[in-house]
Amino acid sequence: MKQPAGSRWLYYRGTVQFLSTLLANSYFLQSLKGFCYPGLNCWACPAANFACPIGALQYSSIGLRGVLTSGKSLWAALPLYVLGTLIFFGALFGRMMCGWLCPFGWLQDLLAKIHRRKYKLPRWSRYIRYVILVVGVFAIPYYTGQPWFTKLCPQGALQGGIFQPLLHPELRAGIGTMWYIKQAILLVTVIAMIFTRRPFCTVICPLGAFFSLFNRISAWQITYDPQACTDCDWCVQHCPVGLDPRQEVNGTHCISCLECQKCPQGAIRSHPVWRSPQVACSADHLPTDPEGVS
Ligand code: SF4
Ligand code: SF4
Ligand code: SF4
Repeated sequence: MKQPAGSRWLYYRGTVQFLSTLLANSYFLQSLKGFCYPGLNCWACPAANFACPIGALQYSSIGLRGVLTSGKSLWAALPLYVLGTLIFFGALFGRMMCGWLCPFGWLQDLLAKIHRRKYKLPRWSRYIRYVILVVGVFAIPYYTGQPWFTKLCPQGALQGGIFQPLLHPELRAGIGTMWYIKQAILLVTVIAMIFTRRPFCTVICPLGAFFSLFNRISAWQITYDPQACTDCDWCVQHCPVGLDPRQEVNGTHCISCLECQKCPQGAIRSHPVWRSPQVACSADHLPTDPEGVS
């Protein structure tokens, strides 16, 4: 069997995901709740330290209608801080936040380990998330005045919908039909996470859709060298999203997890855009696996 290679730091992705989830939900930094976290993490979680950027964008869309109808300047209503934060991270790292930082992405990676055989989602389903971004996050909140994505978000159902009533018994009396619908969506999502690869990221997530726009132009780039590739398929078998990295690495569906950078032949490498892959990865190919990932 082919042995994975690549720099040692590539093997600490699980540890980084764990630490990121801990950072976002450690309770002790709640004074930072005005700041957006560059991953999907529900602000309604009792332990959450940061705001969810998707929630913030929805409330901005709701506020935008009021500002525009009152005749105020469009600039006054634009969510410049939230968009600026997302553009900043996207321009630097593309979708690396999905592969390395997002708590809901980590949950999907963990649940994917339960069932070995994975079912493929139809290719067209990958584009639904762009519709959800435009319609669900901007248009529907703008016209209805309600944050409908948040109302149905499975991450919110998990972090806010379960932990809040558990910690605050007085909230249980307010549980109604909407709560059950949301939990049903969470259940379906969890089942899908076990039997397909990163289904929420692939089909639904508007935050991942936003970061996708930067993957090809971000400062951190991943490159594939067909000359070095022996078509061993190691990377295809290990991509957490089920992509063929030879064709889709750095594309809009790639979460930039860099699992394929462990290519036994060193055919896939990542590097800042201003450095050539050879220079950036001269220390690669340590045949070690500190986390036992292989
Ligand atoms: S696409 Fe997945 S990993 Fe990226 S922000 Fe959304 S849930 Fe998180
Ligand atoms: S890039 Fe080529 S050599 Fe490397 S793991 Fe993929 S198929 Fe194998
Ligand atoms: S193509 Fe490579 S970097 Fe992209 S998601 Fe798959 S394994 Fe991760």
